[in-house]
This record gives sequence, C-alpha cells and structure tokens, in this order.
Amino acid sequence: MTPEPYRPEPVETFLSPEPLAAMHKALVEVKAQLGRHYPLIIGGEKVDTARKVVSTNPSDPAQVVGTTAMASASEADAALEAAWKAFASWKKWPQEDRSRLLMKAAHVMKRRQRELEAWLVYEIGKNYVEAAAEVAEAIDFLRYYAIQSLKYAAGAPVTHFPGEDNEAFYIPLGAGVVIAPWNFPLAILCGMIMGPVAVGNTVVAKPAEDTVVIAAKLFEIFEEAGVPAGVVNFLPGEGSEVGAHLVAHPKTRFVNFTGSLEVGLRINETAARLAPGQLWLKRVFLELGGKDGLIVDETADLEAAALGTVQSAFGFQGQKCSAASRLIVVDKVADLVVERVVERARQLSVGPAEENPDMGPVASAQQENTVRKYLDIGQDEGKLALGGHRLEGSGYFFEPTVFDHVAPDARIAQEEIFGPVLSVIRVPDFDAALEVANGTRFGLTGGVYSRSRDRLERARREFHVGNLYFNRKITGALVGVQPFGGFNLSGTDTKAGGPDYLLNFLQMKSVTERY
Ligand code: NDP
Repeated sequence: MTPEPYRPEPVETFLSPEPLAAMHKALVEVKAQLGRHYPLIIGGEKVDTARKVVSTNPSDPAQVVGTTAMASASEADAALEAAWKAFASWKKWPQEDRSRLLMKAAHVMKRRQRELEAWLVYEIGKNYVEAAAEVAEAIDFLRYYAIQSLKYAAGAPVTHFPGEDNEAFYIPLGAGVVIAPWNFPLAILCGMIMGPVAVGNTVVAKPAEDTVVIAAKLFEIFEEAGVPAGVVNFLPGEGSEVGAHLVAHPKTRFVNFTGSLEVGLRINETAARLAPGQLWLKRVFLELGGKDGLIVDETADLEAAALGTVQSAFGFQGQKCSAASRLIVVDKVADLVVERVVERARQLSVGPAEENPDMGPVASAQQENTVRKYLDIGQDEGKLALGGHRLEGSGYFFEPTVFDHVAPDARIAQEEIFGPVLSVIRVPDFDAALEVANGTRFGLTGGVYSRSRDRLERARREFHVGNLYFNRKITGALVGVQPFGGFNLSGTDTKAGGPDYLLNFLQMKSVTERY
C-alpha cells in the first residue's frame, strides 16, 4: 500500500454556487429520509429492541430525525462477546490491509460528504460550514490513522545484546468501549472508534443519545467499506444504563471516552475497580470539558482579536470543548475590545440550521436548561453587555451573550456552560492575565492576542493548556496539524489526531532468544 501523503481535507465554505446547490439538494434528500429507524449492530447482525432512542431536530424539536433501537445490559454483553470473537482474526490482519480498509472508509465518506453534512444540520443544528468542518475532520481521522498505524508494524528498536536475539513489537489490547458526546457526533465518534481499530483492536460504540442517527450513518459507511462483522459494534442506549454497564464490564479492555467532567470522573472510578473475572487493568482515556481563556493585551491587533473571540465563543453556539468562554483582557484596551466583540456578536444571525445562520439552536432541552441557568447566574455575577435571552419559538435558540466585568472566581468564569455565553474578565496587565487564564481546574485550549514576542514566548511556556493558539481563533484543531487533548481536569491528554495517539491502544511485547 502506498498511501498519498496525508493532508487535511479542505473545508467547504459554500461561497460558490455549486457546493451550495449540492448542499440544498442534500438537505431535500435527507429531509425525505427523516423518521427512519435503525437497529443495533452486534457481530454484523442487525438487532432490534422494544425500546427506542428518539432523535429530534433542535431547530424544530417536533421533527423526529430518526430512531434507533435502545440497547440494555444483555445486548451490551452480546456486543462485547462479538467484539472479542472478531478480535481473534482482526488482530492478525496485516497492518497494510487494515489501513487500506480505513482509506476505503474515507473514500465512502468523501462520496457521501454533502449528505452527512445535511444530517448534521438536522440532527444537531450545525450550520453548513460547521457541518462541513466536522465531516472533513472525520475523513481526516480515517486517512491519518490509516497512515500512522503503518509505522508500528515494524516494531520498536532495541539495543543489541551479545549472545541474544532481542526484539520488541506492538500488539493491540483487545475489545474496548467507545463512549462519545453529541457535539462532534460524527468526527469524534469516528476517530475514537477507528484509532483503536486501525491498530487491531475491536470496539463496542455507544453514541450520545441526541445524535444516534448520524452514528448509524457512520456504521453504514463502515459496512460499505467492508469492516468485518464484530470489529465495530453499534450500541445506542442510555449512558447511565448501558454506558455504565460497559464501563464496569470485566470483558472491557479499554474505555475511550469523550464527554463531560462529571461523567468522566465516574467512569474513571468505575473502571479502576476490578470486576470479578477481570484479567487486566483497564486503560481509560478521558477527554473532558474546558473553560477556555483567550488573552488580549494592549499590543494586540484589536480588530483581529475581536473577530477571533467571536468565532471562538459563538461558533456552533459555543458548544465546543475548545470554545472561548473567558475573554481575559488588559484594562488599557478592555473598553475597545469589548465594544468590538459586542458589535460583531450583535450581527450574528440566529435561526434554524437548515437556513444556514451564523448560529443555530443549542443541542437539546437539557442544553437549553443549562444555558438558561447560567444566564440567570450571570445576571448576578457580571454586567450584561449583549444578549441574555432565549429567542421565541420551539427551537432552542439563544442570543449570543456577553457578560462584562466578571470576577475570575465567578461561577460563569469557572464552570463549563457549553453554550453561547462569553465572560469578560478585565485584568491590570499581562502577568495578571496569565494567572487568571491558568486559574481554573481545566486546561484544554487557550489563546493569546499580542504583538509582544516576549509575552508570546512566556505564554508558550506558562499558559498550561493542551492546545494553545497565538493571534488566531482557539477552535478548529486540524487532524495531524494540531494534536488535540487537554491538561488537568480537561482529560488524559490522549492527543487525538496526533502522531502518538495510536500508541494508547497498543502494548509492547519484548521477546528474547538465547543463541
Ligand atoms: P456527557 O458526559 O453528558 O455524555 C457523553 C457520553 O457519555 C454520552 O454518550 C452519554 O450518554 C454517556 N454517559 C452518560 N452517563 C454515563 C455513565 N454514567 N456511564 C457511561 N457513559 C455515560 O457529555 P455530552 O455528550 O453532554 O458532551 C459535552 C461534553 O463533552 C462537554 O463537557 C465537552 O467539553 C466535552 N467534550 C470534550 C472534548 C475533548 O476533546 N476534550 C470534545 C468534545 C466534547 P447519553 O447521551 O445517553 O447521556
């Protein structure tokens, strides 16, 4: 196999007529398919259940995007058994063949690109560019991991020792569990499954309940690409029921989780407990929340800073783990920066995702409640500079909201809101800005707008986050370009889309033969 060198898939902007027309056509076609039902997939078999997961359109919650079967503990047991059965042969596949299969899946996904984007518009309220960026990221994960996995086939170098033949090589772990969030329901799910699978593991995947249909579409792609039965198993269900059961299961070899801090901590604890009959220590990968800060100092290009802040805070309604939720701005330029941010944010259009606004709805009634709660808290903790309200109508629409004069230890400056709410913290100087930036329990993304080389270098060393950006927005990490993962309570820093990611799912075996 001689793969093309990896480069990220370009993200469609829909500024020219052809892609825009193709998107409109895809929306019509997908709309005609709304409401369909999708079964579980266990060991290649389609399995239906009496209970259903119902996925609705957050722009219009009365519209059912689709339903899936809802797994319970017995289906979870069967799925793990199927994954172990498939592991026996999948682990023996030559790496080149496994990589070729991932490349094939990337081709199928590329062919269905506009259609997948349309599903994201309906199921989770992304506008066209956000949807396009996500599909491109999913394609990138497949291609990047296909190529990265080849490098492990040669094993690891060891030092020669007289009288012995020594070697060290990598083997996969076994059957693992993938539990995914709803905010990148295609890309994160795809990457979390196909990373481990690329290097010979098998997986039981539980998508988030709000986004089971796009997950079913991903499994259609795996099937079309020819992924063998049992290598990937599709198991939608309730997190607290089937997710928790999978995590505690003695047959689970590893847990690859992305989601909230609260659930991540519970998973960490459960997985650490030895279940009866369990033969290993589970490996647990947790990529969790953030309270990401963007510093703007008095030397910065203020226009660029305002643009980057608005893009980072309000893209996909602020529902990105990397979203800027704290703007930390030096007093001297604070009024100017806040004014520009408010002016730009005020111009953002909000509406049904199908109409391609700047901001669609938040994801669910649960997200709506959370955002409402923090809008109330913010009224007491800051000075409302923009927004602050939910819009009329059944869709979960909120105005972009900016609270100014927020204290660094306020709840809206410390707790992840995961919505279109920005807290502005004013500080006397750059030293204070860095201290505030590092003053949360998270450490996912961060950014600095400054023209001072000295300060940028200081931030490079002292701003303690997994992904740090200078003079640009702090969202939109690209696979292979910006390996992604956080410090502190933002997670275990697996660095998805990075050159070492696949090592997480391998173990090294060392073999010595005496001559
Ligand atoms: P949740 O933690 O609520 O849910 C994530 C997944 O865990 C869902 O599939 C959920 O199922 C499942 N789950 C819920 N309870 C349990 C349990 N007790 N045991 C096992 N699984 C369970 O997160 P969200 O889906 O709301 O996602 C948003 C969060 O994800 C934010 O905090 C965000 O910052 C974080 N995130 C982090 C990223 C990173 O790379 N660091 C990237 C993207 C998001 P169900 O849907 O049924 O509840």
